[in-house]
Amino acid sequence: MFHEPHIQTEKPRGWIEIICGPMFSGKTEELLRRLRRAKIANQKMVIFKPSIDIRYGQNKIVSHDANYFPSLPVKHSSEILKNAGSAQLVAIDEVQFFDEDVVKVAEELAVNGKRVICAGLDMDYLGVPFGPMPQLLAVANYITKIQAICLVCGSPATHSFRIAASKDQVALGEKESYEARCRQCFNAGMKAKSA
Ligand code: ADP
Ligand code: MG
Ligand code: ZN
Repeated sequence: MFHEPHIQTEKPRGWIEIICGPMFSGKTEELLRRLRRAKIANQKMVIFKPSIDIRYGQNKIVSHDANYFPSLPVKHSSEILKNAGSAQLVAIDEVQFFDEDVVKVAEELAVNGKRVICAGLDMDYLGVPFGPMPQLLAVANYITKIQAICLVCGSPATHSFRIAASKDQVALGEKESYEARCRQCFNAGMKAKSA
């Protein structure tokens, strides 16, 4: 379980937290948990998500458990900087969909004293690092990597296996298009697909 760092300095110090893992691993749930706690502490916060993610409507982040928090849809990472305002906490869900500049944006926010929490897929449906995630993980202060449950064998699942036929890196979908799998069952599935 992640505990918020306790930092005492005259000037508030910012930092970057990353929550990563495959689909259905509970990234959004964990993000919502941290946001609920910050809200109780009356922290000023703003929550962003990429505007291409319209699965549950534009203006909220929603977990597969149907919990949610209002959020601002943005296209480019520069809009995050513009809209962060005086927030003490800046959260970004589905951060893997953003451009590479999101790394600089997160760092700038942190340098300006903000707590930055990014949640996103570490790998795409081919098992390849997703978009800006490797760079974000490299500059993060805190990393939480979580797993789902493999739908084939029940082991901890690190991968998002695409059941649907699309070959685009970005293909929005839910249980009808993806399932969480462990590395072994993911590899077996990929082999079967290419056979
Ligand atoms: P993420 O943001 O990582 O995609 P969410 O936080 O939206 O995940 O949802 C996590 C929830 O998804 C779990 O608490 C559980 O209710 C549900 N779920 C569906 N499939 C799985 C799975 N294969 N393993 C674990 N949880 C699953
Ligand atoms: Mg999510
Ligand atoms: Zn498995």
